[in-house]
Amino acid sequence: MKIRYILSLLITILLILTSCDSGSVTDTDENEFSFDHEINPGQSATEFLTDDDFERLVIQVQYMQGYEPTQEGLQNLESFLSDRLNKSTVTIMEPEEIPASGESSYTANDIRDLEREHRTQFSSENEIAAYFIIVDGEYSESDVLGIAHFNTSMALFGPKFNEVSSGIGSPSKEDVETIVLRHEFGHILGLVNNGVDMQTNHQDTDNGRHCDNDQCLMFYAFRNADLFANIFGGNIPELDENCVADLQAVGGK
Ligand SMILES: [Zn+2]
Ligand SMILES: [Zn+2]
Repeated sequence: MKIRYILSLLITILLILTSCDSGSVTDTDENEFSFDHEINPGQSATEFLTDDDFERLVIQVQYMQGYEPTQEGLQNLESFLSDRLNKSTVTIMEPEEIPASGESSYTANDIRDLEREHRTQFSSENEIAAYFIIVDGEYSESDVLGIAHFNTSMALFGPKFNEVSSGIGSPSKEDVETIVLRHEFGHILGLVNNGVDMQTNHQDTDNGRHCDNDQCLMFYAFRNADLFANIFGGNIPELDENCVADLQAVGGK
């Protein structure tokens, strides 16, 4: 009787131990980190601008064969973000080549599917992650160089960059990249009236979530392949006072 009692006690203890063990693996821990990467652009603006939730920023860049971004364009993106975001570090990962899809045009949903297939860098405790994908075709809806398609994700349309930077007297590919990388990130940061409230009204409502100042980085023509060369005056446009004020009002620099 005594042995049976000890045996059943041991089995009970074992059962408790194993159930605890499997419990901690499969159950969702209340403290477990979670972050939704598939909400609308601009919805995570404060997470990028402040260091309340994330002290660091990392950016993954993937490109289809033949459309590798320039180091200068990426460095200029990094300096822009370091100037505006309260992050201890802004790291742009070495660009990675992904297989060409060979499509002539992509819808926003095609782009989202490509991201789901290829992206590997996601936000973690203390570090928010952003993502750029550079594809080998055009955007299906309009003649644009780039789009922001999720709260941390942006896409560039590679052939359009060659088109805009190839004519005589055209802006360099580095300059076009610098402007479009920064412009699309501006939408992720909530500009203009895209998740971050305006301090003064400066939205060009005829052209969506853009700034009404044609000297500002967030002017609509800077993402438009047809208009780009006409509007580009040889200088990289900065964010104007109104756009900077909007970012600072929610904790940006
Ligand atoms: Zn835009
Ligand atoms: Zn502006």
